[in-house]
Amino acid sequence: MKQRLINFFSGRNGTDSISKSALWVSILFLIVSIATTRVLDGILSTVFWVFALILIVYSYWRILSRNVYKRRAENDRFIAATSGIRSFFSGIKIRTVQGRQYKFFKCPLCKTVLRVPRGKGKVQITCKKCGNRFSGKT
Ligand SMILES: [Zn+2]
Repeated sequence: MKQRLINFFSGRNGTDSISKSALWVSILFLIVSIATTRVLDGILSTVFWVFALILIVYSYWRILSRNVYKRRAENDRFIAATSGIRSFFSGIKIRTVQGRQYKFFKCPLCKTVLRVPRGKGKVQITCKKCGNRFSGKT
């Protein structure tokens, strides 16, 4: 049985960023589907349910796909296309984790986010990217 499972999964694409994202979005759609059962006679709910199902089928199709080379290329393109969204979310994560020790400032000139230790009072901040100086309260 174990050997058969290994054989089944060998040479398959496995989970990647696209399949993981598709599954997360499908969970989101299922929640929306449940929340909208009473809206427009349940049409909206059905639409979200169908989209969730399509995404689930699509992600499993990717996971079990044997065309690993093509799936990897698609995944690389997906990662490149969503890098902006990813850095936005990782920025939020970094801020919540480090928020107690550091304060974050945005450079008024180039919009670079700068990290300054908390509890230093009013400080002069020099932007490490453009060299602009501005003051901020830590
Ligand atoms: Zn700057």
